[in-house]
Amino acid sequence: MTVLLNTAVKYLKGVGPERATLLEGRGIATVADLLAYLPFRYEDRIRFTPIAEMIPGQFHTTVGEVGSGGGRTVRFARGRGPVFHVNVKDESGSLHARFFHGAYLEGRLRPGQRLVLHGKVEADPYRPGRVEMVNPQIELVASGDKLPADSTEVGRIVPIYEAIGAISSRLLRRIVYGALMNLPGQLPDPLPDEIRERWHFPTRREALLYSHFPPKNESVALLNEFRSPAQVRLIFEEFFFYQLALALRRQREHRERGIAMRVREPEIREAVKRILPFKPTPAQKRVLAEIAADLERPHPMHRLLEGDVGSGKTIVALEAATIVIENSYQVALMAPTEILAAQHFLSAGRVFRQAGYGVELIVSGQKRAERQAILARVESGETQIVVGTHALIEESVKFHRLGLAIVDEQHRFGVLQRKSLMEKGVSPHVLVMTATPIPRTLALTLYGDLDLSVIDEMPPGRAAVTTRWAADTQLTAVWEFVRRETERGRQAFVLYPVIEESKQELKAATAEYERLVKSVFPKLRVGLLHGRLPNEEKDRMMDRFRRGEIQILVATTVVEVGVDVPNATVMVIEHADRFGLAQLHQLRGRIGRGSEKSYCVLVAPKTITGESRERIETMVATSNGFEIAERDLKQRGPGEFFGTRQHGDRAFSFAQPLRDHELLERARQEAFRLAENPSRADEVVARLQATSPLWQKRYQLASVG
Ligand code: ADP
Ligand code: MG
Repeated sequence: MTVLLNTAVKYLKGVGPERATLLEGRGIATVADLLAYLPFRYEDRIRFTPIAEMIPGQFHTTVGEVGSGGGRTVRFARGRGPVFHVNVKDESGSLHARFFHGAYLEGRLRPGQRLVLHGKVEADPYRPGRVEMVNPQIELVASGDKLPADSTEVGRIVPIYEAIGAISSRLLRRIVYGALMNLPGQLPDPLPDEIRERWHFPTRREALLYSHFPPKNESVALLNEFRSPAQVRLIFEEFFFYQLALALRRQREHRERGIAMRVREPEIREAVKRILPFKPTPAQKRVLAEIAADLERPHPMHRLLEGDVGSGKTIVALEAATIVIENSYQVALMAPTEILAAQHFLSAGRVFRQAGYGVELIVSGQKRAERQAILARVESGETQIVVGTHALIEESVKFHRLGLAIVDEQHRFGVLQRKSLMEKGVSPHVLVMTATPIPRTLALTLYGDLDLSVIDEMPPGRAAVTTRWAADTQLTAVWEFVRRETERGRQAFVLYPVIEESKQELKAATAEYERLVKSVFPKLRVGLLHGRLPNEEKDRMMDRFRRGEIQILVATTVVEVGVDVPNATVMVIEHADRFGLAQLHQLRGRIGRGSEKSYCVLVAPKTITGESRERIETMVATSNGFEIAERDLKQRGPGEFFGTRQHGDRAFSFAQPLRDHELLERARQEAFRLAENPSRADEVVARLQATSPLWQKRYQLASVG
């Protein structure tokens, strides 16, 4: 059967309805989706190592025969499953192999059976001087036969996939191989010829084939760095079309008609000055000037405002809002969580009260009558600024004259939500704010359609935050420290990763709250805040903390974003090793907002290793958000930046912007160069849409965002 790129995976050999459902759950519906699911690693299984030359601790591939005893299954009395043991020998020596849950091998590994094994070699614990493999990959080979030419397991560079549910890496190899072998000899190629030639790229068909099943002479090291020609082509191609979509969108937007605001008139400058509760930093001034210049042009602004937590983005956004309101237009401010929306609502109310602007809050769960009244005021134009969560993009929300849409913390929204908000007005200006400080070049390439403004300095008078790592055995001293700080009039956060006691040993916020109130801080005012509380209660709790009625706030990560209590100077994060780096940084951004010295205590066992250790050490070493973001991107990958995370809907499946940064840069240059020639660009886009099912979807996502 010939397989096409848009053939549904359920028609592939080895894929029944059950597996098809599993694959579809990962966004893999067609062969194109399947081939976009690249191995994350490649293993050299070309060279067979004689058993006697195997080195314990290393991976080897070997070929031998089952010894005269054959294999046997050993069953343990209780609990543990059966283990299958077999001896394999070649001319040089013999090897013991153990297979957990290996009973299925019984009868298949008879004496004399030839087989290939691949796996990690260890010293055999029971037979000194000999080696063994535990759960090796095996392939049976008919005796006397040559090794199979089209084995997907051995005798080649073997792709290693991340398993998808019950579909193992090994099974994926067979399914992918089957699909590749049945593709037509020629595949249409969407990359413009001139670019393919300039880069000496392999054809699309070769690129797909070799990225999964590399030719024998390919360098495994290069493959594992994702720099073989086949992989480079696929990565480049993704960036190229993504950037082309951004380039064309940017051109379109720059031509689109928008609202030219008056920004220079003295009364407008005065209005902006009047709302300022403090003197803006030079960075804030520069950024406002950039925004004002955009607002003045007769085209919609599309600008990304980047700045570390606490750098003072909100006031800049409110200054921009003032300009727009003074021009008799309305402003929408969309936040990712209710707590943050409430926080913005409060700041806007405070700042705009004397200006006499009408400020409203729209969140889910408001009473019907209340909501109706708000909606009416927004629609009539009585309200100047509306703050809300994604409830803002509901159909019932209608504006009188929306002039500016501000979206906070963009990466939590999908691009499509940004678009829905824009559609509430006639080509309104758009300002996206993000507290995830990504390196400037990366931001430019990922949000290539947005102009970028960066607030790169903190407001003055901030005392630095000292961060310490404490073991759980030191908690008594930590609580003592918290008590002393509260005696000096300060407030503290104590944070936990979960709400209720679970099977794991994680301390749950609720249980710990009760314990802290009863036996640690009986004389202090302690409050509890978590995501499952009703909204009013959350608000009330935040309010009491803000007013200083509560001294210690025990909370889950609901305080992650936007909470602004300058008198809070201590943050204790328990199980800090369970949090991601960006999240820890966001959390820590809640303290150090006043002029008092602040302290962040990360509680985690000193014995942790690997990435969690690295995260804690990074937090102790630096409070520079850009540095932290860069390390975080390296650990987690930048999936977060693209609204949806499903495989098929992701912007990239081959490319990783951070790892493939230089390719991104080059692809961007090529794409922007092509976009300068509109008729050629149109041809390329038409060909892309005709030939690349996966790209139709993605291209649209990048074009409309
Ligand atoms: P973020 O960038 O994280 O949104 P905010 O806008 O919440 O930061 O500002 C953090 C804190 O700093 C707020 O309490 C705000 O009032 C204060 N702030 C912002 N700009 C200045 C400034 N120029 N001078 C003094 N305080 C400022
Ligand atoms: Mg903020």
